[in-house]
Amino acid sequence: MDSVVYSRLHSNLAIMKLNTVDSILDSYLESAISEEKSFTEILDYLMDQELKARTASAIEQRTRLSAIPVKKYLDDFDFSFQPSIDKNVVKELRSLRFINNTENIVLLGPAGIGKTHIATGLALEAIRAGFSAYFTTGHKMVEKMKRAAHRDWLDRAMAVYSRPKLLVVDEIGYLPLDREGANLFFQVVSNRYEKNSTIFTSNKNFGEWGEILCDDILASAVLDRILHHCTVVNIKGDSYRIRNRARKMSEGSRKGGSE
Ligand code: ADP
Ligand code: MG
Repeated sequence: MDSVVYSRLHSNLAIMKLNTVDSILDSYLESAISEEKSFTEILDYLMDQELKARTASAIEQRTRLSAIPVKKYLDDFDFSFQPSIDKNVVKELRSLRFINNTENIVLLGPAGIGKTHIATGLALEAIRAGFSAYFTTGHKMVEKMKRAAHRDWLDRAMAVYSRPKLLVVDEIGYLPLDREGANLFFQVVSNRYEKNSTIFTSNKNFGEWGEILCDDILASAVLDRILHHCTVVNIKGDSYRIRNRARKMSEGSRKGGSE
């Protein structure tokens, strides 16, 4: 190849930000020519590699921005351990239709039964499918907005929780909110209503949300909006952590006894 054409080609690829094509072009062309590949095949391969690399880096970036604390995948969730969860419901949720339909999910149940795991797993699938997602806890979200409100940045903080296509608000009810916090919580729910989807997890049933939000009327306004288009998954059963620990301990003592 003419050296002027060669350097213009690489420079144009860099300007157009076709970085993957730019980096694989030389070695690929060499092998493609020796394998007598057609121009169409060569172009198709190069474009496909560029697209794959871009998709992977976009997923990585969205995952980083999501603030998911621990990556938990639905494929690693043992549904046989938690028979109260209807597999068909989970299958439907995994289709992510709820995001296209701007519906919500509420995962209810005691500690250790996998609420955070399922919420995180769904968020990671949403990210893989091209949606933006953000993970927070009820307490953290409200405290951040309160601090922002006192510094006159509330709009910016509110946007963080209002914009993502999927928001996970974990651990509602572990800590009760004060009046200002409850009002900010209501504003987020209200901003997202019928625009974006939210997954809530809580160890408290809906009857107790009045206490969490320290106001029954506000709680019913919040629940009205959340539950209007919503799948509620009520998980009953044992804590995976405790059952797993108990099993490991009994395995340990059996091994200890036989030695
Ligand atoms: P919760 O949010 O309901 O308190 P978590 O989702 O944090 O519970 O689960 C506690 C731990 O147990 C996590 O490490 C989670 O990955 C694991 N876990 C819970 N249930 C299951 C399950 N059915 N299969 C696999 N791991 C599970
Ligand atoms: Mg949890």
